[in-house]
Amino acid sequence: MAARRAVVTGAAGFVGSHLCTRLLDDGFHVVALDNFLTGAADNVAHLLERDGFRLIRADVTDYIHVTGNVDVVLHFASPASPIDYLELPIETMKVGSIGTMHALGLAKEKQARFLLASTSETYGDPLIHPQPETYWGNVNPVGPRGVYDEAKRFAEALTMAYRRTGKVNTSIVRIFNTFGPRMRPNDGRAIPTFIRQALTGNPITVAGDGTQTRSICYVDDLVDGVVRLSASELAGPINIGNPHELTMLALAEWIRDLADSQSPITFVPRPVDDPSVRQPDITLARRELGWEPQVPLETGLKQTIDWFREHPEMIEQIPVPAEALINRR
Ligand code: NAD
Repeated sequence: MAARRAVVTGAAGFVGSHLCTRLLDDGFHVVALDNFLTGAADNVAHLLERDGFRLIRADVTDYIHVTGNVDVVLHFASPASPIDYLELPIETMKVGSIGTMHALGLAKEKQARFLLASTSETYGDPLIHPQPETYWGNVNPVGPRGVYDEAKRFAEALTMAYRRTGKVNTSIVRIFNTFGPRMRPNDGRAIPTFIRQALTGNPITVAGDGTQTRSICYVDDLVDGVVRLSASELAGPINIGNPHELTMLALAEWIRDLADSQSPITFVPRPVDDPSVRQPDITLARRELGWEPQVPLETGLKQTIDWFREHPEMIEQIPVPAEALINRR
């Protein structure tokens, strides 16, 4: 029997690279599309020798063309860290809108299952806590973060439009803060920032007074939820995240301890429209997908810290040029 074939957009990013690994482990052939805007070919370099893996440089806002059959399209392309989407506001809106349309178009053409990587940011600064999928959110469309939040909200609406017109078998996952190896140390997200600062002995910079909360999920757990959703017939949206909620100050102190660091903790201004609380209600994922996080946070944090220790070049930020890796095939 021919192998099932998956197309992953944003495959060379943090989450995309882990997703590709899991899909290959599950027996899929994977067509990995990325324009390396915020990702890097190094992230999937370890997959290039594996059977059934193809890496293609493609900007999904231009067009998406894939030959042959496709069973599932997983649309993960998008800048995702606040630093990235604040620097790349137009690219972020284009990939959420035009890129999503092209990814849906591919799924329609191939009669493939489609999965949109949406985000807990669709809930904005939530007025309901924890957040169930039925909550419509509290997003400022004209604030600086609106480019990401509204692009994802548009992407969700577009996905539902393709579903309702019967054109595509779609699903939407709302991903809560996820962490793990291959995050960029300078991408501005709290966990890689704290780890980088702890490992280099620099002050750990906590935004505001550090009482704002997040719920963080190890990447292997997220990928498992994504795979379960794509294998189901559910439409979603469905929250995938770890409900373990903690303050940013507690997270900074925990990382400092785990990294065996003496870094002092300092406080910096909070970004505009930074959510005060964030916690997924995962009742639906538990019931419909039999999913809940399995990796203890301490284990995940230790693995991530170890990975940063083993990759000091990441802290220096010297990626291998994409061409060097793509041309090996
Ligand atoms: P990332 O920046 O590491 O990965 C995104 C990838 O998309 C990068 O490799 C980038 O080069 C690629 N990309 C961007 N624009 C593109 C385009 N026009 N054409 C082709 N490729 C393009 O971010 P991530 O953390 O891995 O996030 C992946 C997805 O998951 C995003 O859609 C993000 O919104 C979603 N998500 C992530 C989190 C999280 O905590 N990591 C939380 C919620 C949602």
